[in-house]
Amino acid sequence: NYRCRSAFKLLEIDDKLQILRPGLSVLDCGAAPGAWSQVAVERVNALGTDPAVPTGFVLGVDLLRISPLEGAVFLSEADIADPRTLRTIQSLLPAEKVDVILSDMAPNATGIKELDHQKLINLCLGLLSLSRSILKPKGTMLCKFWDGHESRLLQNRLKEQFQDVRTIKPQASRKDSAESYYLARLYKGK
Ligand code: SAM
Repeated sequence: NYRCRSAFKLLEIDDKLQILRPGLSVLDCGAAPGAWSQVAVERVNALGTDPAVPTGFVLGVDLLRISPLEGAVFLSEADIADPRTLRTIQSLLPAEKVDVILSDMAPNATGIKELDHQKLINLCLGLLSLSRSILKPKGTMLCKFWDGHESRLLQNRLKEQFQDVRTIKPQASRKDSAESYYLARLYKGK
């Protein structure tokens, strides 16, 4: 059982597009309460449950506290937009860089659609600039956004830095929400 229904979105995306597999190392941004990390721990075999395949790694980061989860490392009460967080993330990773960056981050919604949209786009853009330091070449980034007139800008930035960028609207995302995900694959690196 998952900590949050959001798990089903990641399961759905991953079943269709296979972004997680045993042995990969994952940074899960906006990880609280931890459902996506639960899915990631299973799919990358972070606990080494299956000895026949490689063992992966999961690091979750959130502004909020995240209860411990076997197989994951959590950095709680950390703002991904704070430059100090990058150092801490790097000190917690087993290797210099990760294979996959997941972001289900969402700012506290003000209810003003345009403002919320912009805040989330800015979070994603910030994360994209972090990828230079923490994402392996050919790596993957999956990020949530709320649709609005700056979505294209984020999409274009992703296209500059990844070979394959697509928009995903999981069934598990409520129909009435403007929430979608960009899946960017094959990071061009430096
Ligand atoms: N994927 C999670 C799960 O399955 O349990 C749910 C994530 S929830 C929709 C969004 C999270 O993003 C919130 O917990 C929020 O605290 C976090 N968040 C928002 N802005 C953030 C930031 N600047 N740095 C880190 N986390 C942030």
